[in-house]
Amino acid sequence: MGSVRLYNTLTRRKEEFTPADGKTVRLYCCGPTVYNFAHIGNLRTYLFEDLLHRTLLRAGWRVEHVMNITDVGHMTSDADTGEDKMMKAAIREQRSPWEIARFYEDAFLRDLGRLGIIKPSVTPRATEHVAQMIALIERLEARGITYRTDEGIYFDTARDPDYGKLADLHVAGQIAGAREEVNVDPGKRHPADFILWFTNKPNHIMQWDSPWGRGYPGWHIECSAMSMTYLGNTLDIHCGGIDHIPVHNTNEIAQSESATSVPFARFWVHGAFLNVKGSGGPGHAKMAKSGDNFITVERLIERGYHPLAYRYLCMTAHYRSEMAFSWASLDAATKALSRIYELRGRLGERVADDPLNPAQFADAVAEIDDALADDLNAPRAIALLHEAGSYRLWKEFDRVLGLDIDKLSRPAREEEPLTEQLAGLARKRDEARRARRFDEADRLRDEIEKLGYLVGDGVDGSTIRRRLV
Ligand SMILES: [Zn+2]
Repeated sequence: MGSVRLYNTLTRRKEEFTPADGKTVRLYCCGPTVYNFAHIGNLRTYLFEDLLHRTLLRAGWRVEHVMNITDVGHMTSDADTGEDKMMKAAIREQRSPWEIARFYEDAFLRDLGRLGIIKPSVTPRATEHVAQMIALIERLEARGITYRTDEGIYFDTARDPDYGKLADLHVAGQIAGAREEVNVDPGKRHPADFILWFTNKPNHIMQWDSPWGRGYPGWHIECSAMSMTYLGNTLDIHCGGIDHIPVHNTNEIAQSESATSVPFARFWVHGAFLNVKGSGGPGHAKMAKSGDNFITVERLIERGYHPLAYRYLCMTAHYRSEMAFSWASLDAATKALSRIYELRGRLGERVADDPLNPAQFADAVAEIDDALADDLNAPRAIALLHEAGSYRLWKEFDRVLGLDIDKLSRPAREEEPLTEQLAGLARKRDEARRARRFDEADRLRDEIEKLGYLVGDGVDGSTIRRRLV
C-alpha cells in the first residue's frame, strides 16, 4: 500500500498522512460513556475507527490506539449540563454507579469483539486517571486560563484566541446552538466557557479530593489528560463522531493546547451519523434510548443476524457519508456475506482455481489498496472485490475488512431446533443471570459460543442462534 490520504476536519481537505515519527501512529478515539448499551449508531463510529486502524497497519505502521472509558457520571448534554447519566442509570437499575460502569464497560468491550474490532492498545478508565486530570487543570490554572465560581473551575475561553478553530472551519454556527443551556451558573463569564472541575454537586456519588475541594472532573478534561498520558502532547490522529466537533473536541483542543502550547492533534478524523428509519431525525445522538429504534448488538443477534453483517453493512457506505439503516439493508449485507461463503466453497484458495491470473491478481490488489488509501474508500474496495470474484482476494484483504471470512460457516438466517445440550446450557445460563451470578453466566455463554452459536440477552431471557455465516 502506498501513502494513505485522510480527510482532516481541521484543514477541511484530504491530506497525505504519515506518523510524526515515521513508525508508530498515535491514535486516540473518544470512547463510550458506560451507562447503557452501545447502539448501532455509536458502534458505526467504532467500526470506522477500526477500519482506519487496520488500514494503517496494512500501510506498514505500528498503531498505538488509545480509547477512553468514561466511567465518571456525566451530564446528558455535551456541554456538561442537564442530568447525570450514570446516576440516572443507577437509580433505574438499582445498582451503584460503579456497578453500572463496570457492567456496561464489559458489555461494550464484548460488543467490540463481536464486531471484529481490534481491541485498542489501552482503554484507560476516567476514574483511574483523576490525578492526571487534576494536574492538567493545575497547569491551566498556573497559566491564568481558569476561573472559579460557586459551581467549580471553568476554562476561560476568552483567554484562548484559537478557541473554536475545529468547529469554525467545519460546522460554523453550531457552537452558538450549544450555548443555550438551562440552569446556567450565574458566575459563568461566557456561554462557551466549560467546566473543568465540579465542586458543588453533593449528590454526585463519585467524588475526589482536589486543590479546589471535593468534587469530580468535567467530561472534556478526561480525554485531554488521558490522551496526553498515553500518547504524548501531540497525537497523530484524533477520531470521533461528527457530533463531537462543536463542543467536546473543540474543548479538548482548547485545554490541551493552552496547557502545552503545541498542536494537540495533527489529524482530526470524524465519522458521520447513522440514521435509523423512524428515529425522528438524523444522528445517533438522537436515537431513542429504548424502544424499536434503540438497536444494540444483542438485538441484532436476537433477530438472527450475525454482528459481522452489520460490520459489512457499515463498510458499504463511506465513513463520512450519512448512512441509513434498515433491516432490509442488513438482509442484503447478510446475503453478500453468503456470496463470499459460496466463493470459498466453489473456488477456495488454490491459485489454479482462481479466476485471476497472477498479474491480474497483483493489479487487483493494487487497485483495492488505492481505494482504501484514498480516505478509506471501503465501498469501492468492496465493489472491486465482488467484481473480481476471487476468494483469494477476499482473503488478502480480510485483515483490513475484518470479516473473519475463514470462519464463515453457512449462509444466513437459518432456523433450526436446539440440541439438548444447548438448551440445557441456555437454561442454566438464564438461571445464573436471574440470580445475578454474572461470572457463571459469562462462562456458560463462552461454552455456547464454542459450539458455534451466539447468545443474545433480551428482556424476556436469552435467545440462541446458530452463527449465521
Ligand atoms: Zn473525547
